[in-house]
Amino acid sequence: MKAISVLGSTGSIGTQTLEIAEEFPNQFKVVALTAGRNLPLLVKQIQKHTPEVVALADESLLPELQERLNSLSKENRPNPLPELIGGTDGLNTVASWDHADVVVTGIVGCAGLLPTLAAIKSGKDLALANKETLIAAGPVVIPELKRSGSRLLPADSEHSAIFQCLQGTPWAENARLSTGTPTPGLRHIQLTASGGAFRDWSIEELEKASVKDATSHPNWSMGKKITVDSATLMNKGLEVIEAHYLFGLDYDQIEIVIHPQSIIHSMVELADSSVLAQLGWPDMKLPILYCLSWPNRLETSWRRLNLTEVGNLTFKQPDTLKYPCMELAYSAGRFGGTMPAVLNAANEEAVAQFLQEKIHYLDIPKLIEHACEKHKVDIKSSPSLNDVIAVDKWSRKEVKIQAKKSKYQIPLSGL
Ligand code: NDP
Repeated sequence: MKAISVLGSTGSIGTQTLEIAEEFPNQFKVVALTAGRNLPLLVKQIQKHTPEVVALADESLLPELQERLNSLSKENRPNPLPELIGGTDGLNTVASWDHADVVVTGIVGCAGLLPTLAAIKSGKDLALANKETLIAAGPVVIPELKRSGSRLLPADSEHSAIFQCLQGTPWAENARLSTGTPTPGLRHIQLTASGGAFRDWSIEELEKASVKDATSHPNWSMGKKITVDSATLMNKGLEVIEAHYLFGLDYDQIEIVIHPQSIIHSMVELADSSVLAQLGWPDMKLPILYCLSWPNRLETSWRRLNLTEVGNLTFKQPDTLKYPCMELAYSAGRFGGTMPAVLNAANEEAVAQFLQEKIHYLDIPKLIEHACEKHKVDIKSSPSLNDVIAVDKWSRKEVKIQAKKSKYQIPLSGL
């Protein structure tokens, strides 16, 4: 029985993790949860999983959460009630909860940084979904992993695919550690990308892109931020940086391939030219389950892959003009140091502004590029945690200032 702590339990990754825990009650027990603001769902999760501790990012909502739990009838009230805590300290406490064996990091954005570091420092195994943490703070996270012995298991489907392929190689032990150490014999990887919401749109048509269009993913059901990142292909760019840190690869060894069916989740090419791939329906539950069950595999009754039903698996090179965010991410990754943190924060702020309909979809890469360009003179090559936090703050502010000036700022209703 593995005890699980779920950070971001009310989100897409969090709810799927809890579904897995329900499906395998003899394998997993949920002992700790965190959420942002979604109290109705959180209360249901507390009733179902009776965690020992629950943290709310928004501390001001703690009295309301307590009240909602107290007002449940005796038969519906979890017994015992969990300890309720709030704010950053609360999130860090849940992330390093003594009784948890594995921490699933399903918080969206750089808000996951401090809890992820808390989990690493306490030596927990991590199922890493919150990629923004590694991208912004790779130079801080990797040494902490080496110090604590904590193991980073990739929950992102592409990195899980690579991780799964590497288990069958002589370097499995190395690949398991995921601490940025080069994996000998791993020559190249191909990260597959669905192409996102706009994969069948021309560049000209993107001028009409609305929030509704950008948040409708053809293959995957995910939170809003990552769905927009998939439309811009920034998600894939962030995954390139994530792969660099996880598998110790140079950027020239990491390639993006558009694969609209999302059946091959990524591929590795080994020293002898053999290419290994991991296949499956697009469903995040499998990579999450693998993180939780690793190094074992659990029997599931999930829909089995039928390639004759899929028919065709197709591939093409991504269009760099249509997806400028991809190149911005490669470039930030190659600069290294604090640049990926600036890229990540600028992207988070630009996407937030887009989701609030304050900027146009096409503004997103322009705002990110502006912040990265401006940061070039201030890059720190071996940043501390404080450096990362400072540039994250600066980058968000810079994007907010620029967004107000943006000449592309077209009210969506006017399109
Ligand atoms: P969601 O938006 O669906 O969920 C985000 C979760 O984080 C919610 O529980 C939310 O709480 C919580 N949260 C939001 N803001 C804060 C904050 N400031 N502090 C603490 N908690 C907060 O996101 P996803 O589940 O889609 O994504 C989570 C992470 O996983 C991201 O980093 C994403 O890139 C990664 N990922 C997601 C995939 C997917 O399929 N969804 C696939 C691969 C990676 P509440 O809702 O209660 O406010």
